[in-house]
Amino acid sequence: MSGADQAEPSRARLLEVRDLRTAFRTEDGTVRAVNGISFTLERGRVLGIVGESGSGKSVTCLTMVGLVQKRRTQVSGQALFLGEDLLRMTPRQLRDIRGRAITMIFQDPMTSLNPIMTIGAQLVEAIRLHHRISRAEARNRSLKMLAEVGIPNPEERMKNFPHELSGGMRQRVMIAMALLNNPDLLIADEPTTALDVTTQAQILNLIRQLRSEFDSAIILITHDLGVVAELCDDVIVMYAGQVLEQSDIDTIFEQPVHPYTWGLLGCLPCLNLDSTRLQNIPGMPPSLLQPPAGCVFHPRCVYALPICREISPPLKPIWSESAQHLAACHLDPAFRARESARLCSNASAEVVR
Ligand code: SF4
Repeated sequence: MSGADQAEPSRARLLEVRDLRTAFRTEDGTVRAVNGISFTLERGRVLGIVGESGSGKSVTCLTMVGLVQKRRTQVSGQALFLGEDLLRMTPRQLRDIRGRAITMIFQDPMTSLNPIMTIGAQLVEAIRLHHRISRAEARNRSLKMLAEVGIPNPEERMKNFPHELSGGMRQRVMIAMALLNNPDLLIADEPTTALDVTTQAQILNLIRQLRSEFDSAIILITHDLGVVAELCDDVIVMYAGQVLEQSDIDTIFEQPVHPYTWGLLGCLPCLNLDSTRLQNIPGMPPSLLQPPAGCVFHPRCVYALPICREISPPLKPIWSESAQHLAACHLDPAFRARESARLCSNASAEVVR
């Protein structure tokens, strides 16, 4: 994964998003939900998009796959999937790609599963929608996939309706459904948030296994840096529709340079970055109808400078020698490096795992 400026063509490159922007026109004004996100994703890689509720992480992915309401929505930028721009595809082309080449799993499987169809009927339909194969063959493939995602007694489970399964089982069914057609890209939106800790660990293990087995790329949307540490190769930190920091997983835990990222890390009890501050982030995210002028994070930032209230800092490389680590902050780079070293001397993805 890299930022907007690194647009070298690559055979392994699966998805390339350039300056994606989504704005919703409402009766109260325009909500700028995503304000210029850029990244690339290669096969077999896991990108985490992390941030608080309303930061734009889900809208980014829903925009890419054409699941935002077209009416009253302005979308710009590019989302090149295997070289084809998803944002310019017809609804029919997008329907063909969704569920086959790009699949999604959401926090609450009940909102995605049809409550009045058996699990088996839904799995068979998901395959036959994209492949001309017999019902019997689709059924066999479904049984195999249910077993693969760790569902005991798949023959029996095929006869169940969604409400007859536990939350963890339903999420496994969703993962099975998402993987039935060997997708190139899996988008997982808070896939473990509604689950208990044990089931959460099992589902994360499952996603990890599947990633290596299927060589799919994964975008993991989460507010949980623990989940990011478990699974991701690269991370984008979003806030109020903007990218504030972007890097590989080790850098984000060991040398984060944005005050918001320090705040998020400071909320993790296992890191306990600073016993005197940044244990939580004071204040609330801003309204996207009327975001603050300058840096969107300035009302909550303990480091804010006068310039922060007036000028929005661009997202740019931190060090001239590394174009992979980007941040949007006015603080002097040397100060940020010192503060990062002070706050994060014991932090690492390994500790969080
Ligand atoms: Fe804080 Fe200013 Fe940096 Fe924004 S630009 S994160 S307000 S120091």
